[in-house]
Amino acid sequence: MKTITLIGSTGSIGKQTLDVCRKHNITVKALAAYGNTALLESQAREFSSECVCIYRDDRYIEMRERLADTGIKVLCGMEGLCEIASDKSADLFVNSVVGMVGLLPTLTAIENGIDVALANKETLVAGGHIVMSEAKKRGVKIYPIDSEHSAIFQCLQGNDPKQVNKIILTASGGPFFGMRKSELEDVTVEQALNHPNWSMGNKITIDSATLMNKGLEFIEAKWLFGVSPRNIEIVVNRESVIHSAVEFKDFSVIAQMGVPDMKIPIQYALLYPQREECDVKPLSFTDYGTLTFFKPDFETFDCLSGCVEAINRGGAYPCIVNAVNEEAVTLFLNREIPFLRIGELVRKSLDSLPEMPSETYEDIKRAEMAARNFVYNEMNF
Ligand code: MN
Repeated sequence: MKTITLIGSTGSIGKQTLDVCRKHNITVKALAAYGNTALLESQAREFSSECVCIYRDDRYIEMRERLADTGIKVLCGMEGLCEIASDKSADLFVNSVVGMVGLLPTLTAIENGIDVALANKETLVAGGHIVMSEAKKRGVKIYPIDSEHSAIFQCLQGNDPKQVNKIILTASGGPFFGMRKSELEDVTVEQALNHPNWSMGNKITIDSATLMNKGLEFIEAKWLFGVSPRNIEIVVNRESVIHSAVEFKDFSVIAQMGVPDMKIPIQYALLYPQREECDVKPLSFTDYGTLTFFKPDFETFDCLSGCVEAINRGGAYPCIVNAVNEEAVTLFLNREIPFLRIGELVRKSLDSLPEMPSETYEDIKRAEMAARNFVYNEMNF
């Protein structure tokens, strides 16, 4: 019987992780959420968890009151997330928070020798080199939950990573596929939140509309699988049926397919290497009839080209574009900037911010601050 700890439990991935835990009787020792006290309370009661963390300090008292009649320990803030991440009695630490706030908890779990299931892509974008080298040093496994990376991980099973020619990272193209910049000037928040294939949280849905999500995943793939960016090809598969593929030395291509449903990659990460029944629709090729493929549009989608440039430059630039994007998406969702401004800010940060070191967690935090200040200054001119 498996035991996990889970941070980001009230988000889209978190809730689906708990569906998988329910189905397969996985014990959930600890849970953490950003601010949704009511849902965190009901999750903790249902799973008889030992501990919860509410990230927002101002909701700590309320959270304690909600659970006062139970023996459940209540934590808050980053300290609380890291306390959960360091619980060595868990077989697996599942990180499904949004944003690079997930980096320190991930590093904490690794430091304690606990395997990590990672849905939090910003963690690898901001500090991928640190995460992967620490994990290697301590023999900790990182299981990807992101559907594309789970697909690549599945395609690599039983194969020698040294015999890989390239990774084919698929993209849906998002809701604005085929459009030019001139057509995207007046995009509303509602239009950007309307994704054709996947139902996800707000931040990642906006990232999918700008193709920042694919840029982040490009960087994520580099770190997870140790491949050069030159050997990662992005291909649009409009139907999101091929979740990604790997081409080997003999030009044999192995792809992983399924209906677009996050339960498959979540369950694979939680039960690895077991495959059990999953509560999703089976894939029917004949229902789809056709699968369509296109090249990505680097001209229109500045966030995508910005991420590729960031990883090619290296250093702290991936962390910088990620932090700029986190700020810009919040501004867009608050209707303070237009849609195309997100990509403009990402591109401009590459030209405006100097090279910065990225060796340590403190370096990463400094680069993050510089990036957030850059957006702040741009908004005040
Ligand atoms: Mn993905």
